Amino acid sequence: MDTPFATHDVINQSPPFENVNLFTSDRALVEAVTREGGGAAANRLTAFGAACGSAEAFERGRLANEHTPRLKPFDAKGHRLDVVEFHPAYHECMSLSMAEGLHCSAWDHLVSPDAKPNDGANVARSAGCYMAIQMEAGHQCPVTMTNAAIPTLLLQPEVAETWLPKILGRTYDKTFQPVRAKRSATVGMGMTEKQGGTDVRANTTRAVPVNGGGPGGEYAVTGHKWFMSAPMCDAFLVLAQAPGGLSCLLMPRFLPDGSVNALRLQRLKDKLGNRSNASSEVEFQGAHAWLIGEEGRGVPAIIEMVTGTRLDCAIGSAGLMRLVLANAIHHCRHRTAFQRKLVDQPLMEQVLADLALDVEAATALAFRLCRSFDRADDERAAAWRRLMTPVTKYWVCKMGPALAYEAMECLGGNGYVEEGFAARVYRELPLNGIWEGSGNVMALDLLRVLQREPESLEIVLEELGATAGRDKELMPQLERVQALLHEPRLLDARGRSLIEGLAKLAAGAILRAHAPAYVADAFMATRLSGGARHTYGQGLDGADVRAIIDRALPA
Ligand SMILES: Cc1cc2nc3c(=O)[nH]c(=O)nc-3n(C[C@H](O)[C@H](O)[C@H](O)COP(=O)(O)OP(=O)(O)OC[C@H]3O[C@@H](n4cnc5c(N)ncnc54)[C@H](O)[C@@H]3O)c2cc1C
Repeated sequence: MDTPFATHDVINQSPPFENVNLFTSDRALVEAVTREGGGAAANRLTAFGAACGSAEAFERGRLANEHTPRLKPFDAKGHRLDVVEFHPAYHECMSLSMAEGLHCSAWDHLVSPDAKPNDGANVARSAGCYMAIQMEAGHQCPVTMTNAAIPTLLLQPEVAETWLPKILGRTYDKTFQPVRAKRSATVGMGMTEKQGGTDVRANTTRAVPVNGGGPGGEYAVTGHKWFMSAPMCDAFLVLAQAPGGLSCLLMPRFLPDGSVNALRLQRLKDKLGNRSNASSEVEFQGAHAWLIGEEGRGVPAIIEMVTGTRLDCAIGSAGLMRLVLANAIHHCRHRTAFQRKLVDQPLMEQVLADLALDVEAATALAFRLCRSFDRADDERAAAWRRLMTPVTKYWVCKMGPALAYEAMECLGGNGYVEEGFAARVYRELPLNGIWEGSGNVMALDLLRVLQREPESLEIVLEELGATAGRDKELMPQLERVQALLHEPRLLDARGRSLIEGLAKLAAGAILRAHAPAYVADAFMATRLSGGARHTYGQGLDGADVRAIIDRALPA
C-alpha cells in the first residue's frame, strides 16, 4: 500500500560528492606534480588526498564555516583577553594541514646546517595545499602565511634561530601561551592600514627603537592594522615607520618574559566568504617587536613573504576551481533531465568541457610556477619566478569567480544553497584576487619587472618561443605579446592586456607540450583564436568534449 509520503521519495538527486581521493582522481594534478618535480611525494599525496576528500573532512569544512570564529576582547571580569575562539572543526583542519607540513615542509632542510632544499619540496607542498583548500579554505590563511614568512625571517638570523624550531613543528598547538611553551608556531602578516593597503608607504604605524634598535633590535610599535588575518598566530611580520623609514618587524603575541604583548583586537571583519578564518582590525599600543633587516628596508624584506603568498593564491584558486568542476561533472553524471543524463546533453557537454580546460590550464600554470620556487638558485627558474608570479596570480585568481559561477549553474538550484560546496567556493574565490596584490597591482608588478629586470622577460620568452615556434596558434599569440612590448609608451594602460596575453601564452605552451592533444587543441581554439566570448560553453563544436570531461573526472 502507498504510504502517505510516497511523493517524498527522493529520486534523481546525485549522491554526495565525498570519499573521493582528491589526488588520484585528478589527472591534471598528478601529471603536473610529476612533471614539475614532486613525483617522489606521490604516495604521501595519495594518502593526503584520501584524507582531504573524505566525508569527515568535507563535514569539517562545513562546520568550520557555519560556526564562525568569535572575538573575546575581555574576560568576565573586564580584563583584556584579545583572543578568538574557533569551532573544533577549524582546529581539526589546522591539525591535519600542519601534520602534513603545509606550513613549513618546503623549509625542512633548514633543520640541518648546510643541507640543500629537498627536490620538489615546493611542488609537493603546493599539491597538499591544493587539496587541503578543497577540504576547507579559511584555515589555509595561517598555513600559507607561516610558510611564506620563513624567507623574511631568515633575513635576521638570530630571530630566525629562536622561531624556526617552533615553526617547523608539525603538531598544531592552539593554546594561547608564550611560544617557548608551545609545540609549534604560526606567523601572520600586518601590512594593510585604513589609509593604504597597496600603498604601504602610506603606513602611519610608528616603530620607536628601545635601547638603540638596529637589525634584530627591539622596537615599541604604536598604530593599527585595518586587516590582520589569523590573529591567533604566535607572531606577525608587520610594517611600521621607524626613524630610518618603513621597516619590517616581527611582533610576537607574548613577550620573552611571558607577559602578553600589547596587541588589542578591535573587531573581526564580517566577510563575504572565508568565514572560518578570523580577519581582525587591531591596534598596537606600544607593542614590542624585533626589526628584521635594516630600518627603511621594510618593503624588500616583506616582499619575500608576499611572493610566497601569491603562489599560494594561485594554487588555492586552482584547487577550489577543481572542486567545483568535479562537483559539477559528478552531479551531471547522475542527474537526468528530459530523459537524458545532463552530462549527455550536448550543451552541457560543451559547458563542462569548457570549464575543465580552464581548470587544467590554471593547474598547469600554477604548478609550473611552483617549480621555479624549488630551483631558486637557477637563473632561468629565478626569471620565471620573478616574471610569472604576478602573471600566474593575476590570471588564475581572476578566472576563479566566473568559473565557480558557471559550475554552480550546472548544479541547478542545489548549487545556490549553502549545503553544497559551490556557494561557499563562489564566495571564497574573489578573495584570492584581492589580497596579496589585486589585479591592477599584479599588472603593475609585471611592468616593474620589465623595467628593472628585462633579462627575466628575455629568458621566459625564449623558453615559450621554443614551443610556440612550432605551433600555428601559439606563434600568433607570441607575436601579440611582442607587439605589446614594442609599444613601451602605451604599456602603462595596457598592463592587463599584456599580463593576460602572457598567461595564455604560457598556459598554452605547457598544455601543448604536455597535455593530450584533445585538451591542448581545444584550449588553443577557444582561448587563443576564435571569436570573443563572455560565457562558457562556446566554440568547442569540433572538440572531443567527452574525452576532456572524462579526463577531468574519471568515471
Ligand atoms: C579577507 C581579507 C583578509 C586580509 N588579511 C590581511 C592580512 O592578514 N594582512 C594584511 O596586511 N592585509 C590583509 N588584507 C588586506 C588586503 O591585502 C588588501 O585589502 C589589499 O592589499 C588591497 O588593499 P586596499 O584594501 O587598501 O585597497 P587599495 O590599495 O586602495 O586598492 C583598491 C583598488 O585599487 C587598485 N589600485 C591600487 N593601486 C593602483 C594603481 N597604482 N593603479 C591602478 N589601480 C590601483 C587595486 O588593484 C584595487 O583594485 C586582507 C583583506 C581581506 C579582504
